[in-house]
Amino acid sequence: MPDKIKLALGQGATCSGCDIAVLDLDVELLSLFAIADLSFAPLATDIKYADVEAMADGEITICLFHGAIRNSDNAHSARLLRKKSKIMIAYGVCAAFGGIPGLANVTTTEKILQTVFQDTASTVNPEHIRPQTKYVSPQGHTLELPELYDEVLMLSDIVEVDYLIAACPPTREMNMQLLKVVLDFVQGKAPLPPKGTILALPKTMCDECDRTRPEKIIVDEIKSVDYTRIEADKCLLEQGILCLGPATRAGCNAKCMKANMPCRGCMGPTSAVIDQGASMLSAFASLLKTSNAEHLIPEEQIEKLMEKIRDPLGTFYRFTLPKSLLKKVVDDSNKPFTGAPR
Ligand code: SF4
Ligand code: SF4
Ligand code: SF4
Repeated sequence: MPDKIKLALGQGATCSGCDIAVLDLDVELLSLFAIADLSFAPLATDIKYADVEAMADGEITICLFHGAIRNSDNAHSARLLRKKSKIMIAYGVCAAFGGIPGLANVTTTEKILQTVFQDTASTVNPEHIRPQTKYVSPQGHTLELPELYDEVLMLSDIVEVDYLIAACPPTREMNMQLLKVVLDFVQGKAPLPPKGTILALPKTMCDECDRTRPEKIIVDEIKSVDYTRIEADKCLLEQGILCLGPATRAGCNAKCMKANMPCRGCMGPTSAVIDQGASMLSAFASLLKTSNAEHLIPEEQIEKLMEKIRDPLGTFYRFTLPKSLLKKVVDDSNKPFTGAPR
């Protein structure tokens, strides 16, 4: 067997759940570390940027980069690891499509800072002092903080990405599949998949879900999952629960529906769709009306139904706003930011 490969776990704006997802390989971690050494993993090792900078370009075999690009440090890390890595994988939906951090694109950095340090400060800060990107201490030490960007980006917005695993977080099965791809490549058994491959299934979540979905569904009520007795085996949309299955890529084994929860769309859209939120809105709209006059719902009732969707933007674009056609939505009124627009 050739020498061990070098593996990096890079990170941008992340909750680090993706790091934990790697640990979820469990005993298979032994198979991973039998073929790979960790070259960079801020959560687990004390390897610094300077150590990575000292490496030759392309010296790292594979980098799993998780988290969105939210500030100058995220961008620096992504560019450095791209330069030093042969294969760059957008690992997790935040890196692949912007994910939850991408919801910051509903406002501006200025409004966020104003909310946090001025309007609703959670710490005593009478002078409303904001963090500076550079500060020289009385002892003469220069301290630096990354600069927050005004727009949350996907990894592919700033560097070339070879493969994507879009999920929140990638599941054990996805990691096992990735491990097999890497093992087969390292052991010369199979070439790598074509660049740009998304390690998931091409179909939608509804195709993977075991619940029975009738040919025609008419939604005349939107219910909260918290207060509804969910019927097993029956499509959640049919039960009035907003499920993003029709607009979401399959590959997680329909995890949430198995637990009586609707799909929230964390695998992102299928390749056939550019904008997951618009796709789901259009699928949902078609369920509200039907050509069968008997079931035609009056406009006012549709409006009332739509009003029941709390935070529509956060519901339909929960994981993919930076990838969507909207990319960034800014309320340009002067009101301080108080949450996602409703
Ligand atoms: S994809 Fe999910 S688990 Fe991974 S960093 Fe983003 S929010 Fe965390
Ligand atoms: S809408 Fe949701 S519950 Fe219904 S079939 Fe699709 S994934 Fe399953
Ligand atoms: S069912 Fe939907 S929200 Fe749940 S893990 Fe799968 S893609 Fe993500």
